[in-house]
Amino acid sequence: MKQETKSTLLITGGAGFIGSNLCEYFLEKEYKVICLDNFATGHRYNLKGFINHPNFKLIEGDIRNVIDCANAVKGVDYVLHQAALGSVPRSINDPITTNDVNVSGFLNMLVASREAKVKRFIYAASSSTYGDSVGLPKVEEVIGKPLSPYAITKYVNELYADIFSKTYGLETIGLRYFNVFGRKQDPKGAYAAVIPKFVMQLMQHESPKINGDGNFSRDFTYIDNVIQMNELAMTTQNPLAINTVYNTAYGDRNTLNNLVSYLKEYLSKYDSKIANIEVEYGPDREGDIPHSLASIDKAKGLLGYDPKYSLQEGLHEAVDWYWKNLK
Ligand code: NAD
Repeated sequence: MKQETKSTLLITGGAGFIGSNLCEYFLEKEYKVICLDNFATGHRYNLKGFINHPNFKLIEGDIRNVIDCANAVKGVDYVLHQAALGSVPRSINDPITTNDVNVSGFLNMLVASREAKVKRFIYAASSSTYGDSVGLPKVEEVIGKPLSPYAITKYVNELYADIFSKTYGLETIGLRYFNVFGRKQDPKGAYAAVIPKFVMQLMQHESPKINGDGNFSRDFTYIDNVIQMNELAMTTQNPLAINTVYNTAYGDRNTLNNLVSYLKEYLSKYDSKIANIEVEYGPDREGDIPHSLASIDKAKGLLGYDPKYSLQEGLHEAVDWYWKNLK
């Protein structure tokens, strides 16, 4: 029997942490994958495992450039838009570049997707959109005021996506990622995320430096749960499930102190000296919210989301990967 031809996906930011994991996963599932990336924070080594795959195409380009966006969406069925400048501190240091990439670049991608008549535009939104709202768990319909330029850009993305679905009939789904972690997340640089940074520091026998007293908590979300949400958002046939946003999380929270003790425990299986490394505490960081926890009921109900990895399960995988790849 002739096999059905799989769809073509455009993964922007496909050389980054989340994007490269999405590329890898969907190539394994026999989709055709196009990656658009300017390597601002992504890396060629993230593409190593599949750069020569016959169904993979790399377009080196910038989402701030409308021609690059138009070229990238040609013949594409689904867009998984990940390209952005992440990090709250980066956006505080350079709000203009963050806005150019995250807002203007996002709008360019929406326009290009509409003109190319893509079937659906799925995009990386953010838990930072909850801003100063204090209630827990976070439910999609109740947000606060943004606490950083980055959070503004991610909220504006949701507003634009909503208008594009209402005005032009472009199907969109936003995934509000909560502190994603896992293989290929960059441990280096001033704006590195906390888990890979702590792993690296511990592996080098340095003290992990926590901003604040370590009692802030987060809904740490393993990459495979995020991949599952992207796949569900792309494939859902439920008309009630589209043109909306979803929390993309595990649905549990852990403090930074908890996180470090898990990391020390798991890493000390490879290097027993790590068990004795002490944590250093510093001042709270600007723009940080104290606690974050997602309700994942909407994703469960409308998309059938069923996250497989808790923080501890994900950390086992991530630590193993970092040990093999960074040591
Ligand atoms: P990342 O920095 O590893 O990946 C972003 C990718 O986008 C990089 O490959 C980068 O080179 C690319 N990029 C940046 N500017 C670009 C431009 N102008 N043109 C083309 N490509 C460009 O970050 P990530 O953690 O993989 O994040 C992916 C997405 O998820 C981002 O939109 C981010 O805001 C969002 N997000 C991530 C998290 C998280 O915990 N990692 C949480 C919430 C939201």
